[in-house]
Amino acid sequence: MKYQHTFTDGTIFQSPLGKLVCAGRNYADHARELNNPVPTEPVLFMKPATAVVPLSEPFSLPADQGECHFETELAVLVGETLCQASAIEARRAIAGVGIGLDLTLRDVQQALKSKGLPWEKAKAFDGSCPLSAFLTPERINDIQNIQIRMTRNGEIKQDGNTEQMLTGVIDLLVYISNCFTLEPGDVVMTGTPAGVGPLTSGDQLKAELVGLLAVDCTVI
Ligand code: ZN
Repeated sequence: MKYQHTFTDGTIFQSPLGKLVCAGRNYADHARELNNPVPTEPVLFMKPATAVVPLSEPFSLPADQGECHFETELAVLVGETLCQASAIEARRAIAGVGIGLDLTLRDVQQALKSKGLPWEKAKAFDGSCPLSAFLTPERINDIQNIQIRMTRNGEIKQDGNTEQMLTGVIDLLVYISNCFTLEPGDVVMTGTPAGVGPLTSGDQLKAELVGLLAVDCTVI
């Protein structure tokens, strides 16, 4: 069945899935764990719609391409067109808040980075972005105070808070909208806290926005 954005109450979002715009190195402790400089402005990359699969269903990893890391991220569903948006417009355009995995072929990415090449082969492959259902915005008290947790096989691997973002969600939407237009159905992946690591077949994962949303999933 073709992927469609849904809300946690089961209703379907009216717009089809669009592109994914992702922030890299948006948490200083994650930038440091990969020995990357802490950026002074957002690092952006994109994934195509073909990257998205439902997080609630078992997903598979690319074969024979080295380590595939999980990066657990707050995902923002865009509900309005944003082009050179103001902060007020950006806030109004948030149609949903969920959790997603920015799956990354780390060995492939290292090889690309060392040659100064773009990251798409490491980041934009089919299935590289499992996404949860979305909470409606009124469920969120403070988008910059949400605990993001990833538990792998019973062990907490990532446990960060959106207050640690270098560029907060609203500023990030404004920044992105000055680079390219966001449209209804697009998703913004807001970067990952520290603790990323490799996945293997059979892993049992729990991805949580603590107190708001929890999704159990299995790596095939
Ligand atoms: Zn990421």
